[in-house]
Amino acid sequence: MSENTSTQALQQRSLAAVWHPCTQMARAELMPPLPIQRGEGAWLYDFEGNRYFDANSSWWVNLFGHADAQLNAAIKQQLDTLPHVMLAGCTHEPAVRLAERLSARTGGALGHCFFGSDGASAVEIALKQSFHSWRNLGQVEKREFVCLKNGYHGETIGALAVTDVAIFRDAYDPLLMRAHIVESPDSRKGPEGQVKALAAMRALLEERSASVAAVIVEPLVQGAAGMVMHSPAYLRALRAMTREFGVHLIADEIAVGCGRTGTFFAWEQSEAEWPDFILLSKGITGGTLPLSLVLTTEAIFKSFWSEDVTRGFLHSHSYTGNALACAAANAVLDRFDAGQLERNAAQSKLLGAAFAPLAEHERVEQMRQRGMILAFDVKDAPERFAEKFHLAARRHELLIRPIGQTVYLMPPYLIGPATASFLANAVTNTLNDVLSD
Ligand SMILES: *Cc1c(COP(=O)(O)O)cnc(C)c1O
Repeated sequence: MSENTSTQALQQRSLAAVWHPCTQMARAELMPPLPIQRGEGAWLYDFEGNRYFDANSSWWVNLFGHADAQLNAAIKQQLDTLPHVMLAGCTHEPAVRLAERLSARTGGALGHCFFGSDGASAVEIALKQSFHSWRNLGQVEKREFVCLKNGYHGETIGALAVTDVAIFRDAYDPLLMRAHIVESPDSRKGPEGQVKALAAMRALLEERSASVAAVIVEPLVQGAAGMVMHSPAYLRALRAMTREFGVHLIADEIAVGCGRTGTFFAWEQSEAEWPDFILLSKGITGGTLPLSLVLTTEAIFKSFWSEDVTRGFLHSHSYTGNALACAAANAVLDRFDAGQLERNAAQSKLLGAAFAPLAEHERVEQMRQRGMILAFDVKDAPERFAEKFHLAARRHELLIRPIGQTVYLMPPYLIGPATASFLANAVTNTLNDVLSD
């Protein structure tokens, strides 16, 4: 019996058996999932021989596109040696090496690495570690968290509590721990926006710091908010403020880490002292296997150090420190050791230049870019714009999912002059199709 893999049949089977993420299944018939047969570099291929450029790196994870030979080789080698062993009571070279290399990338400031399975679990781990660290130090009242307006930190119950994206959050609001949501330094509001955001943070911390464990932010770019950007100066001021008021700072680099914004950690651009926690996931395995990491300081690590088992951090996930995922992450770091940031700088210039003409489009505003993230907002966008754009883009060989009225590119690090101009043309043509409908 051969399986029917024709496009429509696979779509129908998928709609019947697979509950798709981030999808109203009642509308999925109108926007059927694209059956993908294989991927190669930045391109995805369907069963009919059509190809699509993966402009959002499959939810920001495929840094080097699809089926990258180096990443695949690293995983295959690990697969034949040791695919997995539990990290409690055992250890293995890929995990140790990964922790050491990430620590080195912070100059040793964040020298302790805890392993999770996905972004949301990293957020949960950091929130728990922050609270528990204060508790171990006798500051049991420090149990509140602060996040930014429109911030996104994942969708498990704890992570959702520090997420301010209504569409993901509202239905579950009754279940969530109460966090403080503070004005975001959205650069579209100009320099006063940043001043206001910092003043709001100061006002909150002046009043509540005795009860606050940590502030969590997405450095430089609030991704799910619609690629909302802010300046490194905000991060510098925020670091100083969290020090002044004695609260932890958690830098959620799940989206912006791994070279996405121009430096390996987005935080580096602040030129400030390191945060108390940095979280990585998404791109760290280049879109091959799920993995997340929570990097933290000697001070926090030491606050758990005790003869008393219950003062330890007993958190665990079944796949913690999975060796295959760690091998993939080490292969990703190999690329950065071999000049990836320099390549990204050149690629980001190509993207910026190719999209510059689109900034003049009468319906385009707030064209903005940081490293390998480029975004713009669409004025007076029609209803269900994101859905329409996503569908229309398929006809221009483009896989892309706008957020609300914001169209963004977060492409694989595989941009050359030809792909940059292909992307600019495809996005412009898609936009014109959608607007003229
Ligand atoms: C995607 C994301 C998360 C959640 O990661 P998952 O792997 O989807 O759970 C958390 N924080 C940020 C900034 C993200 O972009």
